[in-house]
Amino acid sequence: MPRYHIDTIPVWDALRQDSECLLCVLRRRSEHLLADRYLGGSVMEPDTRIRVNAKGFCRDHQRMLQDRQNKLGHALMMLSRLKEVEEKLDGLPQGRGTGRAARLWGLRSAEDSPASALGELHRGCVLCDHLDENMRQYAYSLLHLWKTDGAFRQAFLASKGLCLPDAGLMLDMAAEHLDAAAFSEFQAAVRRLLGENLRRLEEELEWFTLKFDYRNNDKPWGNSRDALERTVNKLRGWTLGEDPGRDKKQS
Ligand SMILES: [Zn+2]
Ligand SMILES: [Zn+2]
Repeated sequence: MPRYHIDTIPVWDALRQDSECLLCVLRRRSEHLLADRYLGGSVMEPDTRIRVNAKGFCRDHQRMLQDRQNKLGHALMMLSRLKEVEEKLDGLPQGRGTGRAARLWGLRSAEDSPASALGELHRGCVLCDHLDENMRQYAYSLLHLWKTDGAFRQAFLASKGLCLPDAGLMLDMAAEHLDAAAFSEFQAAVRRLLGENLRRLEEELEWFTLKFDYRNNDKPWGNSRDALERTVNKLRGWTLGEDPGRDKKQS
């Protein structure tokens, strides 16, 4: 089992942002820091270079790197990775990839298709891997606060809680680290919080749609102006609207 360190201050801080998911705030902050780091000094560290060369970056993270105005750093990283992909390409198995038996039975396994051989060269993302690790740390810290800090528990239960994917992350973490009774208490709380917040969003989003009716022109928006963005963020993790990982003055 991995060892986790506990880092409660950022969790408290994210909770106070009052967003649709405090873990999404932490993820986005972490993502920005990692993107800066990959384009900063750590680019030249052999360890990092090996991992970048082997995996590269997913589309989202490639775009984040490109947005950072360090085209030389980005280009050097990609040059190094490009060379490694060229080398590996030479070593890939040739041919159609489906064995005789598989063809006889009409099977075409995903693992041995030509596309999957090439897939080895472009699946995965070093930044995603790193980010997942950081998120497990934060999830562990949240769980620690839940167990040990009554004020946090209260504030968490009064908050907008978590998005759907991060509720899953938290429950997995809780299943690993809490005993049966503590787990079912936590699970019930997370589900209730999620349910309440989905209902809140349903009302907000419905009012958003009703505002398109001219008869409602003069009625106030209430909380509904950004209900569409927040609904997407609740169901999918932060995707739309103001970047929760950026301070307002930076964005
Ligand atoms: Zn989230
Ligand atoms: Zn990625």
